[in-house]
Amino acid sequence: MLQNSLVLDIAEKYKPLWALDSVSSLLEWDMETYMPLGSSSPRGFTIAQTQLLRQERMLQLADLVSKAEKLTGLNDFETGFLRVLKRELDYYSKVPPKLLEDIVRTSIEGTVVWREARKKSDFSMFKPYLEKMVGLKRQEAEKLGYEGHPYNALMDRYEEGITTDDVDKIFSPLRSELKEILTKVLSAGKFPSTHPLERMSYEEPAMKRVNEDALKLLQMPQKTFRMDISTHPFTASMSIQDVRITTRYEGKDFKASLYSTVHESGHAIYDLQVEPTLEYTPLARGTSLGVHESQSRFWENFIGRSREFIKRIYPSLKTNLSFVAQYSEEDIYHYVNSVKPSFIRVEADELTYNFHIMLRYELEKKLIGGEMEVADAPAMWKDLMEKYVGVRPTNDAEGLLQDVHWSEGMFGYFATYSLGNVIGGMFYNSIQKDLDLKTVIASGELSKVKDWLKERLHKYGATYSPKELQKRVLGETYNPQWLIKYLREKYLT
Ligand SMILES: [Zn+2]
Repeated sequence: MLQNSLVLDIAEKYKPLWALDSVSSLLEWDMETYMPLGSSSPRGFTIAQTQLLRQERMLQLADLVSKAEKLTGLNDFETGFLRVLKRELDYYSKVPPKLLEDIVRTSIEGTVVWREARKKSDFSMFKPYLEKMVGLKRQEAEKLGYEGHPYNALMDRYEEGITTDDVDKIFSPLRSELKEILTKVLSAGKFPSTHPLERMSYEEPAMKRVNEDALKLLQMPQKTFRMDISTHPFTASMSIQDVRITTRYEGKDFKASLYSTVHESGHAIYDLQVEPTLEYTPLARGTSLGVHESQSRFWENFIGRSREFIKRIYPSLKTNLSFVAQYSEEDIYHYVNSVKPSFIRVEADELTYNFHIMLRYELEKKLIGGEMEVADAPAMWKDLMEKYVGVRPTNDAEGLLQDVHWSEGMFGYFATYSLGNVIGGMFYNSIQKDLDLKTVIASGELSKVKDWLKERLHKYGATYSPKELQKRVLGETYNPQWLIKYLREKYLT
């Protein structure tokens, strides 16, 4: 709880900022779900104005925050509160408005061109924008300051305190072990690379009923949570008492829809279970993208793709999707866990997914470090795909034009997807010391899992930095061995 009078004073003055964040989230949620297609210009304008207003109000807190930093004897919530505000103030005070504006403009222009370039698979169209963005991001890193590699400054925005040394240490064993597991799985053939169910078509209302049953299994709250539809599923948190997810319906290959629902629910559970007294403060959110992703992956993969979860959802699949009747639970288990080296990150399975991240990380690190030209990126992408995943893209649409992150300037973001898998593995290992997870899932008592996560992680919101949090809860940070152990057991035994 916040008790110190100066901290409470800042917390009071922060409330309008909290409200602006909540408004922005709602505007963005609406933009992706119900907004009329032709309304994007005024919406973009409104969101940008909201963010400017936020920046202005935030900078007004600078003096009070630096005064509060001299306080001693603060409790963990108060220390965390000041840490989070200091990080935001740091960013606004170090990065000049002109540079921020350039980044936003390049991102808007570049994203329009990127969409076209991806459609035509023509990297040369996008190349000047990517060059400009890399230049701007290198400037941003210089302004922010860093120790070691300039890329550290950018990664820190998404995962506080993470460095290239950390990530190299995590990825190195992960790469060699995953390669070994993948080679064995592909030669054993127990987990198929394709499955007939991938081609089966479903009606949207029927699949919606399956997803609603999945939400019931996950015991998602009725009054503070809802699910809608968007092309790219996401979670929007307006408040601890208003968290929304979206899912997608592509009309076939139902696992994509089901696991989007479960993944986003994992994000939502984190946001919904933050300690209610932190509402309206900057602590009412997840502590980092990596930790947030650990929660979505935990529910999607460790829980959702388990035999026990399949057993629970199977009756709903059979009732709503008539074609499922001819497949057993074991068939469904193999369908949702098929392993296929492919070009596209968002379609990747648990074994190949991290390779997609590693190659983006290596490229970004070289680009931001000035060790590589943008012009050489497409060829290097193809080489690394071949080296890691064993497939070589024939064009740039299935290569480096596939993700929106670079056009939007989100350099330093990608690693958090794999860090999420790694932390998810650590939670999976840790929770089994207290709960017999298989039995708990099989008996449908998932509230026990939610309570466990709430007590150890969720309720603190952003109180602790991701490294502090892991040390407190798991006794170690970013240890990839638990993910490797889980994958070995799942795929090789
Ligand atoms: Zn996610």
